[in-house]
Amino acid sequence: MDLSYTPEEEEFRARLREWLAKVLPGLPPKPDPEDWPGRRAYDLGWQRTLYDAGYADVHWGASPTTRLIFLEETEKAGAPYVGANFVGLLHAGPTIATEGTEEQRARWLAPILRGDEVWCQGFSEPDAGSDLAALRTRAWRDGDHYVVSGSKIWTSHAEVADWCELLVRTDPAAPRHRGITWLAMPMDAPGVTVRPLRTLAGSAEFAEVFLDEVRVPVANRVGAENDGWRVTMVTLSFERGTAFVGEVVACRRVLGDLARVAHRNGAWDDPELRRRLGRLNAEFRALWRLTQWNVSEAEGRGVPGVGGSVFKLRYSHARQELYDAAAAVLGPDALDLDRPWVLDRLSSLSYTIAAGTSQIQRNIVAERILGLPKGR
Ligand SMILES: Cc1cc2nc3c(=O)[nH]c(=O)nc-3n(C[C@H](O)[C@H](O)[C@H](O)COP(=O)(O)OP(=O)(O)OC[C@H]3O[C@@H](n4cnc5c(N)ncnc54)[C@H](O)[C@@H]3O)c2cc1C
Repeated sequence: MDLSYTPEEEEFRARLREWLAKVLPGLPPKPDPEDWPGRRAYDLGWQRTLYDAGYADVHWGASPTTRLIFLEETEKAGAPYVGANFVGLLHAGPTIATEGTEEQRARWLAPILRGDEVWCQGFSEPDAGSDLAALRTRAWRDGDHYVVSGSKIWTSHAEVADWCELLVRTDPAAPRHRGITWLAMPMDAPGVTVRPLRTLAGSAEFAEVFLDEVRVPVANRVGAENDGWRVTMVTLSFERGTAFVGEVVACRRVLGDLARVAHRNGAWDDPELRRRLGRLNAEFRALWRLTQWNVSEAEGRGVPGVGGSVFKLRYSHARQELYDAAAAVLGPDALDLDRPWVLDRLSSLSYTIAAGTSQIQRNIVAERILGLPKGR
């Protein structure tokens, strides 16, 4: 393990800092969180700015350490995060880059990097979440097309997506993990219906997606037919790898802001609250070191390993504890949705579910790191 930075990496950091200081003051104002077309335009505009400056492919073209520096510096500078196209940039893009043919890479990667096209992830189904291999959306071959019928759920940003990385069952007779295929489905294909789902925080950030005999060209299949499970694992390892780096930096900033507000409003007089904030400070410092350790491990392998599960497990709970502490600092104002941190507190609840629940991460840690026997 090596947690130090090379002179080239430090030079990359300095150049990036300088560029961010120049470019960020010229950004347009952030759109309303409920204005999804506006959010799409804003996020893709930022992606285009990154592309023009040569930073667009940092999520899958650069070394893990360079990516870490990029995410740390952009978050510290207050730059936008990947936003509406997180699936394109952090899941589908890396998967196509690793598993796609030359034509597929040429067709799909440049529009993601340029900020022209948005992707969503059609994996989960009403009866297939943690147990993803239970998915039932069917695809039949009809000449040079697949005909797809079924439904997906919790599809983030489906309303503004151009493409969906879709998992379908192509061989119902095969053992569960061996009959699945990975397809790139155009979201404007006839037979695709998107029904937004509203969360308790009031936003419709994900949707149900119904598929009624949707025709998807066979040329849109990434990997071999029935080899979609292996292709999917490539995607998921990216998801749990460095996807949360920027957020750890942001949480450390929130912690500093919380202490300042607590000093102002008198909450700091409570020794219990001071202990809570102190413990969280130590926790997020440790999480940052764990991130660096995971990145250092990934340097050797090219893709993140199971250490991402240890991080994801602890980080998602620490984030919830952070925003609970924010509520303690805010007092009765924690019930006012317009106050800072209140919506973040509500959305933090989803962190222990999305990208693999805490129970599933514990299973992975138990079996693949601690070598404990598989559960029944
Ligand atoms: C904010 C958010 C965004 C999302 N975005 C997407 C997206 O874009 N695309 C997509 O495809 N999906 C998305 N999801 C879905 C997400 O992947 C699933 O919610 C998740 O995998 C859990 O599946 P489930 O909701 O069906 O719960 P279930 O799998 O039904 O789990 C229910 C409970 O049982 C527990 N459990 C299940 N199996 C085990 C086991 N073997 N051992 C111990 N406990 C177990 C779980 O931990 C959980 O507590 C998103 C979810 C959220 C919250």
